[in-house]
Amino acid sequence: MDPQTVFCHNPACPARGQVGKGNIRIHSQKERRYICDVCKKTFAETKGTPFYRLHKAQDLFVLVVTLLAYGCPMQAIVAAFQLDERTVVRWQQRSGEHCEKVHQHLVEQPRDLGQVQGDEIRVKIQGAIVWMAMAIQVGPRLWLGGSVSTCRDTTLITCLMQKVRACALCRPLLLCADGCAAYVKAARAVFREPLHFGQKGRPFLRPWDNLNVAQVVKHYVRKRVVGVERRLVQGSMAQVQTLVAETQGGGTINTAYIERLNATFRARLAALVRRGRALARQTTTLHQAMYLVGTVYNFCTYHHSLRVAIHLPLNRRRWVSRTPAIAAGITDHLWTVEELLSFQVPLPCWTPPKRRGRPSKATKALMAQWCS
Ligand SMILES: [Zn+2]
Repeated sequence: MDPQTVFCHNPACPARGQVGKGNIRIHSQKERRYICDVCKKTFAETKGTPFYRLHKAQDLFVLVVTLLAYGCPMQAIVAAFQLDERTVVRWQQRSGEHCEKVHQHLVEQPRDLGQVQGDEIRVKIQGAIVWMAMAIQVGPRLWLGGSVSTCRDTTLITCLMQKVRACALCRPLLLCADGCAAYVKAARAVFREPLHFGQKGRPFLRPWDNLNVAQVVKHYVRKRVVGVERRLVQGSMAQVQTLVAETQGGGTINTAYIERLNATFRARLAALVRRGRALARQTTTLHQAMYLVGTVYNFCTYHHSLRVAIHLPLNRRRWVSRTPAIAAGITDHLWTVEELLSFQVPLPCWTPPKRRGRPSKATKALMAQWCS
């Protein structure tokens, strides 16, 4: 147990979420609990992770979640480990919610995206058809998030574009998608910056200058592709060619990278298997399972095409494998699933509760100490 690496989880504590400030001590080695000197509350070592208040062994939980993240059907896990099906469903939910928080904290940070590809998967759930929209940053093959909805409409695509926007810096950006017209409308609506003139009301929203939107439309005859039409809906062709060359090393506008990622998700998410029997019942289950698979893909799996060669003397070379998160500069090593599940997402800094009048001296002192 290391008190220097944990933080207080009490939402009312001025020191919440602050690591290495010396306010945490070990409360009990036996019960594995810490204590915060500021609020005098104790908390378990596993607080803020899916292991919190777990009744089964932690190793079993990690094993089951790893199997779920690589597409093992739930019934196989139930039979192999003699667990109740509801327990496995709950573990998938807990780990999915945790992975979504990790994704929001580490991946949804502004970065130069270069080229982003988006696509939707048609998913059969019990008694309905839903759509799962996802996006990938082509350079480091980083999964940028996804959304699930019952309709393949502007709301779904806008939700996806907002996730891409959360990861994007205002730099030259190429968005590639299929012929779904909602992408163009959603991209124009989401990629805008407010211009403040000091006037009342909603500020004027200015569209991004270097946003390029391209569509790849495939024409089919009897379920076979007979032609591919590439359209540049917004932006300049010269900038698009530069971005394509930088991110994929040549070639033309395409959606091959997101289609390959869709195939990975279909293989690793039992509910997405075509003509399968392991259907999901609710869209929330699908959403949580998608975040579990996506985060394990980003952090815990080496990507074959991301490996780099290190040239050694005598014309020899050594290959170094990388995960999408390493390639994007988010981390420097391959995470284990246990490491991913034990990662504690820091809480936002404390803000004093709203009261009428000026803050007291005591509140000011707390703000000076903990809100800097
Ligand atoms: Zn505290």
